[in-house]
Amino acid sequence: MLDKIDLFILDMDGTFYLDDILLPGSLDFLEILKQKGKRYVFFTNNSSLGPTDYVRKLRKMGAPVLKGSVITSGEITAEYILQKYGRCKIFLLGTPQLKRVFASYGHVMEDEKPDFVVLGFDKTLTYEKLKKACLFLRKGKKYLATHPDINCPSKEGPIPDAGSLIAAIEASTGRKPDLVLGKPNPMVVEVISRKLNVPKEKMAMVGDRLYTDVKLGKNAGIVSILVLTGETTLDDLSRSDVKPDFVFKNLYELSKAIE
Ligand SMILES: [Mg+2]
Repeated sequence: MLDKIDLFILDMDGTFYLDDILLPGSLDFLEILKQKGKRYVFFTNNSSLGPTDYVRKLRKMGAPVLKGSVITSGEITAEYILQKYGRCKIFLLGTPQLKRVFASYGHVMEDEKPDFVVLGFDKTLTYEKLKKACLFLRKGKKYLATHPDINCPSKEGPIPDAGSLIAAIEASTGRKPDLVLGKPNPMVVEVISRKLNVPKEKMAMVGDRLYTDVKLGKNAGIVSILVLTGETTLDDLSRSDVKPDFVFKNLYELSKAIE
């Protein structure tokens, strides 16, 4: 089953690194893929940074990753809007890095008459932005969120992520996003499949979370692989109804299996 996989979609935090340190076997895994002529792409729900920021971060940790090897939920959202509606005017709850991602897809940031309100992991959120977003949503503007995560792990402990902002906006306006992109929405796999020209039968999702990474694999109908280097313990796994196709202790064990 692993032999036929040509593209591995890799989660980052808890799978490839933990905070700023590479996990055991991360580099071996990339090396084996290279030897076997297989490909990888990193995918993250965290839309507070752009793909080039992540490439820089990975290289700084010593991983020889290629340019273009990271895709974020921000890009999936910008791409989805472009495919379905063309270039749009966006009121963005997002960081300057997310703004750049949207601009790179031809979208324009708009504070007065937007086509869309887009909510990302906005670490630069102000009351003014939140207020404006709520007022636009009351007028019925289309509303997308880049991903659903309630909290983001950080060294200081879990910090409020996009899902918490979704909840705050719902409390004020009664509106939920029309669509939430990112894991576990199977659209992630569809966009990656199209972008990298790999059929779904040849793709696998590798990650440390059952309800985002493994769930994405299940939702999209691709092979799912759980690694135990992050959030999920064997105990969690035995209690969950989301069951991965494969479980490995870490990426090193996975590399051994595809060697
Ligand atoms: Mg993770």
